[in-house]
Amino acid sequence: MSSIKVTTPTAQYEVVISPGLLRTLHRRVRTLSPKSRLFVITSPNIWKLWSKPFLASFPTPPEVLFLPAGESHKRLPSVERLAEQLAQKGADRDSLLIAFGGGVLGDMTGFLAAIYMRGIPYLQVPTTLLAQVDSSVGGKTGVNLAAGKNLIGSFHHPLATLVDPELCLTLPAAELRSGLQESVKAAIIRDPKLFRFLETKTEAILAKKPDVKALTRVVTASVQVKANVVNIDERESGPRMILNFGHTIGHTIESATEYKVLLHGQAIGWGQIAALHVSLNRGLITQAEFDRMATLVYAYGPLPPFKATAKKLVALTASDKKRRSGRRAFVLTTGIGSTEIVFDVTDAELLTATQSML
Ligand code: NAD
Ligand code: ZN
Repeated sequence: MSSIKVTTPTAQYEVVISPGLLRTLHRRVRTLSPKSRLFVITSPNIWKLWSKPFLASFPTPPEVLFLPAGESHKRLPSVERLAEQLAQKGADRDSLLIAFGGGVLGDMTGFLAAIYMRGIPYLQVPTTLLAQVDSSVGGKTGVNLAAGKNLIGSFHHPLATLVDPELCLTLPAAELRSGLQESVKAAIIRDPKLFRFLETKTEAILAKKPDVKALTRVVTASVQVKANVVNIDERESGPRMILNFGHTIGHTIESATEYKVLLHGQAIGWGQIAALHVSLNRGLITQAEFDRMATLVYAYGPLPPFKATAKKLVALTASDKKRRSGRRAFVLTTGIGSTEIVFDVTDAELLTATQSML
């Protein structure tokens, strides 16, 4: 079992990572919150797969509220519907929400917890690799607008994040690999040891039945990277930006393909290749370093093809720029485990890098 502390100016909590944790969930919940009334928020497909071990430790079953799976449901009406259900059931400030699902469900439950009765506590029990290594740590919650992703939201940290890597065993292979791109990112930006582990254990991690021990090590190291960064910069004003490695071009690929062609991690895989090209072209990394990092990104692929020209992708980075008052922050690598945030990457540079990537 590993326990990683997240300590920000507004919150302090632990991310506990332990295979089989789900079967002792009730005890852990009661240690954190002895008396609260529990409301589990989950999706029917996840509940069907995992309700039995989830409920195994509960003396009496908690209330369960359902949200349909999928990014298309990550909208305000879903949050309102859940809030109405909570109100009907008499949930109050002494209630505790348990988000049991992937990033979509965790972001939405966190947001619901942030605004229901002006804020109630919640727990994250993430069920996808992406949610375990990324979205359930850091306190960002929210929903999408037609105008863009996560445009409504708030920072609201969970009481704790309880991670059982065994939950990943039922994930579709593409979802697992998509989450692993965030681990590859964590390794590239901050953790050469994790990088070597991902290089040497690729087969075990990507096996039909993934090796839980290896997976646990990957989850733990990735969470540690995220926690270290969030601890020094909760609101992404500075150092937290390094978590966006691969995300500038990754986001434009998602938006150019209307979020329909690639999973997030697949787009981020492409984005990491683009960022590697910019880093190489600036002489920040050697060809050998480029090859090692690109090989790892591709190893956790495949990165599916998509239809968008390099020109279009670069043009789309303008919206990123707008949001930051004309300054486009870009995260480059200066070697395995180290990064540099720069603001002077030109469109021409990005175009060259993106063309090389495609
Ligand atoms: P997701 O929540 O849509 O889950 C992917 C699919 O896997 C869904 O169909 C889900 O029902 C299914 N699923 C979940 N757990 C399963 C399991 N154990 N077995 C089988 N199927 C399972 O997608 P995601 O990739 O987990 O999360 C993406 C979301 O996370 C996006 O909305 C993104 O904006 C958000 N995100 C948030 C942060 C943050 O800091 N808050 C960071 C990164 C991403
Ligand atoms: Zn991401």
